[in-house]
Amino acid sequence: MSDYTFQTKLLHNEHKFDSYTGAVSVPIQHASTFHQSDFDSFGQYDYSRSGNPTRETLEAAIAELEGGVRGFAFASGMAAISTAFLLLSKGDHVVVTEDVYGGTFRMVTAVLTRFGIEHTFVDMTDLDAVAKAIQPNTKVIYMETPSNPLLKVTDIEGIVKLAKANNCLTFLDNTFLTPALQRPIEFGVDLVLHSATKFLSGHSDVLAGLAVAKDEVIASKIYALQNSFGAVLGVQDCWLVLRGLKTLSVRLEQSQKGAAEIANYLAVHPLVKNVYYPGLAVHPGHSTHFRQASGGGAVLSFELENEDAVRQFSANVKIPVFAVSLGAVESILSYPPKMSHAAMPPEERNKRGITDGLLRLSVGLESPDDLIRDFDQAFQTLT
Ligand SMILES: *Cc1c(COP(=O)(O)O)cnc(C)c1O
Repeated sequence: MSDYTFQTKLLHNEHKFDSYTGAVSVPIQHASTFHQSDFDSFGQYDYSRSGNPTRETLEAAIAELEGGVRGFAFASGMAAISTAFLLLSKGDHVVVTEDVYGGTFRMVTAVLTRFGIEHTFVDMTDLDAVAKAIQPNTKVIYMETPSNPLLKVTDIEGIVKLAKANNCLTFLDNTFLTPALQRPIEFGVDLVLHSATKFLSGHSDVLAGLAVAKDEVIASKIYALQNSFGAVLGVQDCWLVLRGLKTLSVRLEQSQKGAAEIANYLAVHPLVKNVYYPGLAVHPGHSTHFRQASGGGAVLSFELENEDAVRQFSANVKIPVFAVSLGAVESILSYPPKMSHAAMPPEERNKRGITDGLLRLSVGLESPDDLIRDFDQAFQTLT
């Protein structure tokens, strides 16, 4: 199976049909508990928090797609990320990319600190800054590339090398690109994390998180934490993510094509101050990005003059839904300062370049021509 290209693997894997009935859709196993024939030898399943066949199908699928040894499904992206942080103990330290997802920022600053786990935020485009931030008690370097919402690019191999030299683990939030475009484990990352709420499921209809471990040592620790903390994904939602996965390649391909066209359009628009999209040759991380990823992805950000311009533009644009989230069949426009990054204090936001004029666009499956025409009419209301 592993000879297949990614696109084929999405459909033809060991779960392409149910071995018992031949069903071409994975059965949803609702049972919370499983009958045991005697108490000395339990069967493959005993209790659904510890293991469930529907969840296992999804976990096996994501592990294969990311090239890891084992996958884990959680109730949300934050449940996956928070469970991963439970690998740390009191007195440990984590180095985190400075434009990290707002919810991860909140977990690190407001929760982990209460358990005596320290952190340092750094600009991860700067390997020297990362090296300087590493302390004797640093246990994890946490990456997001491209990052949210400024699409900054981190040199994955560079960070992995630093981590290995300092005996720490690397985590990478791969939500924006998915394994269709970037497979961090191939570059030595220890744990890949996902909000499967976004591109992996792809239809704005399920909240889910995934983790994939590079080796058995970390896999067994994550398994123990998943079972202890218990934030597992429900079986209906596992099935929805599995269905979404089947079309991941075609969805991303189409959305990415649209994102590139829109980025080019915005890049020359007089009312747009900045466009952040790694697919643009002028993006500072462009060459690093294309060493580790096969496409620019479907998310971009752009900066207008100020909050008033954003208000006017977003009130007049018609096609995208204006919402938190990304990675769906419909285009989603969001305002990071008051949405995904609302948990971040204004001075932290401004320091990171998340200004009051910034909008983020996740391109869906609409015709890019329609989107550009729509943007054009919304911009005309600004002048
Ligand atoms: C949405 C998101 C998360 C959080 O995932 P949830 O499923 O909303 O809990 C984490 N990281 C990134 C990059 C995200 O976009």
